[in-house]
Amino acid sequence: MPLDFEFTDEQNMFRETIREFGQNEIEPLIEEYEKKEDFPKELFPKLGEMGFLGIVFPEEYGGVGLDKVTDCVFAEEMGRISAGIAMCINAHVGLACFPVYKFGSEEQKQKYLVPGIAGEKIGALGLTEPGAGSDARSISTQAVKKDGKYILNGTKTWITNGTMCDFAIVAAYTDRSRKGVGISLFIVEKGFPGFKVSGKVHKLGHKAADTSELVFENCEVPEENLLVGEGGFQHAMATLLGARITHAAKSVGLAQAAFEYALEYSKEREAFGKPISKFQAISFKLADMAVKVETARLMVYKAAWLYSNDRKCLKEASMAKLYAAEVVQWVATEAVQVLGGYGYGVEYPVERYYRDAKLASLTEGTSEIQRIVISRELGI
Ligand SMILES: Cc1cc2nc3c(=O)[nH]c(=O)nc-3n(C[C@H](O)[C@H](O)[C@H](O)COP(=O)(O)OP(=O)(O)OC[C@H]3O[C@@H](n4cnc5c(N)ncnc54)[C@H](O)[C@@H]3O)c2cc1C
Repeated sequence: MPLDFEFTDEQNMFRETIREFGQNEIEPLIEEYEKKEDFPKELFPKLGEMGFLGIVFPEEYGGVGLDKVTDCVFAEEMGRISAGIAMCINAHVGLACFPVYKFGSEEQKQKYLVPGIAGEKIGALGLTEPGAGSDARSISTQAVKKDGKYILNGTKTWITNGTMCDFAIVAAYTDRSRKGVGISLFIVEKGFPGFKVSGKVHKLGHKAADTSELVFENCEVPEENLLVGEGGFQHAMATLLGARITHAAKSVGLAQAAFEYALEYSKEREAFGKPISKFQAISFKLADMAVKVETARLMVYKAAWLYSNDRKCLKEASMAKLYAAEVVQWVATEAVQVLGGYGYGVEYPVERYYRDAKLASLTEGTSEIQRIVISRELGI
């Protein structure tokens, strides 16, 4: 098939629907929840009703049965509205519901995926710990089998949806003697004895996202809540592959928002008797912003297309994630510059875009980790 850069009519209509939903249902909540440093939980059932939480999941589980490209259209539009809100949705769908769909038993799918798609249950992924982030094989959380249950002990930090989640996919060692290999994944419900949310994490940006620390103290997890036995680390990495593409799409959306705001502002704001957009220093900046956002977008949708078509895309996913992270930070910084002093003021959204942009190079694998993956794929 020849190269085709067009979205389908269905995808274009879907983009319009998301944009309208964002303007009506999310935009009015942003200021309040950024200040509260909390996520508007009431959004989840609405997102579920619209089918936004089930884009990539089959209809038999209440999903829409579409592909990663369409999922990225959704993530891009969410990133354009609110990166903080987008992050919680991405974590729920891509990091919690996805592994249940991909690796879970039929019973687990009915119990967690179906209500997850409907927005009735919220999920999280607990991989990172105070002592292990990029080096996730070095986690210390441990699960010991006893009397038909697993007893979990450990602490997970920086967990998106940590406070509001109903269940979390938690990585723990079941055989510490086998580094990396001896990690299993569990579905741990909030109500299980010994599961505690020990505190909210306060952040530079993404303030409307729920980020918390979770503690498991002799937490009792029934045997049937084992999601993946030993070798679970590879399954967590497989989960992160798709999540990185969606993450990059969210960065593109945020970069697009910063670019659009700066462009419109430059046409209105006058200095020395003309709109600042007429100064070449500003118009070239805007041209470079447009080029970079478009390049990042092409990389994201190429990776999403490869992923949707079951092609190998480890390198392309990391490239898209890395490049989109660099672009969003650069574009948001330049957007502040275009607005001058007003770019630094909280009355304008550009200040939020600038703070939100930094996260792109830190989560779902830092930019250094993406470069390690790309280097390996290059055979270095
Ligand atoms: C807002 C937010 C939300 C998050 N949500 C979740 C979540 O839902 N679930 C979850 O499990 N985790 C989550 N995380 C954790 C995130 O995935 C980690 O922060 C990330 O993996 C980096 O780990 P670290 O912070 O411990 O940094 P470290 O691993 O300590 O890294 C510190 C620095 O060293 C660099 N570095 C590390 N190793 C190497 C190397 N081999 N070569 C070169 N440089 C290296 C890193 O790139 C980084 O610059 C979240 C983090 C944030 C900030």
